[in-house]
Amino acid sequence: MSTDPDCLFCKIVAGDIPADIVHSDDRTIAFRDINPQAPVHVLVVPRAHVVDAGTVVPGDAEDLAAMVMAAKTVADAEGIGGEDRGYRLAFNVGPDSGNSVAHLHLHLLGGRSFVWPPG
Ligand code: 5GP
Ligand code: ZN
Repeated sequence: MSTDPDCLFCKIVAGDIPADIVHSDDRTIAFRDINPQAPVHVLVVPRAHVVDAGTVVPGDAEDLAAMVMAAKTVADAEGIGGEDRGYRLAFNVGPDSGNSVAHLHLHLLGGRSFVWPPG
């Protein structure tokens, strides 16, 4: 499994930087965003270092599937599952999106309603 010793989220995966972890499995961890944009704002990341959704390769497919499954598990645990309330999943890719951390992360946002199109 590839890791980057200089990567913030690799350090969180390794336990070297603390985070409020809400889910962990063999491929992913999920933790609360330090600057939440909604009542529920969780980041789901692969344990392996992957830069972003714009650089994924076929070999990342199982991690990507595990991330979506983890997001579903967290959403249900937080009481915002689709049958109850609903939520938004988002990948930011590149400067126009505002992406700031170069380790793949899926934003799980919920607990309020969202507009579409997003800002
Ligand atoms: P991006 O803008 O790259 O899609 O999202 C990165 C997210 O990581 C931001 O929402 C930001 O608040 C969050 N973040 C940045 N540093 C930390 C940190 O040290 N801990 C946690 N829990 N979240 C962080
Ligand atoms: Zn990383």
